[in-house]
Amino acid sequence: RTVYVNGSFVAEEDARISIFDRGFLFADGIYEVTAVIDGRLVDNDLHLARLERSLREIGIPMPVAKERILEIQAELVRRNVLREGVVYLQVTRGVADRDFNYAESMEPCLVGFTQEKKLVDTAAGRDGVAVDVADDPRWARRDIKTVMLLGQVLAKKNAKNNGFHEVWFVEDGYVTEGASSTAFIVNDQGTIITRPNSHAVLPGCTRRALRKIAEDEGVKIEERTFTIEEAYTAKEAFLTSASSLVTPIIKIAERTIAEGTPGPITRRLQAIYLDLARTQSEP
Ligand code: PLP
Repeated sequence: RTVYVNGSFVAEEDARISIFDRGFLFADGIYEVTAVIDGRLVDNDLHLARLERSLREIGIPMPVAKERILEIQAELVRRNVLREGVVYLQVTRGVADRDFNYAESMEPCLVGFTQEKKLVDTAAGRDGVAVDVADDPRWARRDIKTVMLLGQVLAKKNAKNNGFHEVWFVEDGYVTEGASSTAFIVNDQGTIITRPNSHAVLPGCTRRALRKIAEDEGVKIEERTFTIEEAYTAKEAFLTSASSLVTPIIKIAERTIAEGTPGPITRRLQAIYLDLARTQSEP
């Protein structure tokens, strides 16, 4: 694989990062994941806008201009002949002797790589998945896409050990989001419900694209908090993320949702999302 490190495209075994990189020592950095379908970057404008916002929120300067980042992504896709998978980008505050404090003049570190991954026509997308439920273990600024992911790592591992595909986090009785996805339910009236953006959740790019699709399709979408109890009795449920697109949910903890098969509204939005991803993305 060819990867990108601070200005150079190199073979992955030749890539070098200092052990004093603050991403390594403090998780002092952010990341983005963009899906690639048919060799095209999906919803990438949204991902680059969020990368810029995450950096601004923690006071790291853009490592290079946004247009250059897009070129780097496209070059990674090209050099690795990637048809389906993801492009990962990470920006950290940079390298300095270990100290909680940092100089504002530090040079950020940018790395990128691709991962081949089947995204379309997967078993999860076709048959739906089961999600576990756990207390939200994360810090108070979940709107920043930081590489500080230990809460998610442990929660997802535990969920997997229990036979679940993903885990929905709950705080004060309300669902925040999945460990690496946005949470949605559909009620008896066919209205989609998802939590509003705030510091409590990551503003999902796929969520944003899906909201537009729902509006165009005349499907009502209500942004409000919902309890885990409401989710247990929902008509349908699904999750979204760059790498899982729209994935139906058929079980939440031990409760069966939508008679254990992907619901019709979920199916319809899933199909439209994929269609748009294929036709409207950047080559
Ligand atoms: N919420 C969390 C905590 C995530 O980690 C992710 C993606 O990885 C999402 C939501 C979905 O965001 P997106 O649709 O931009 O991939």
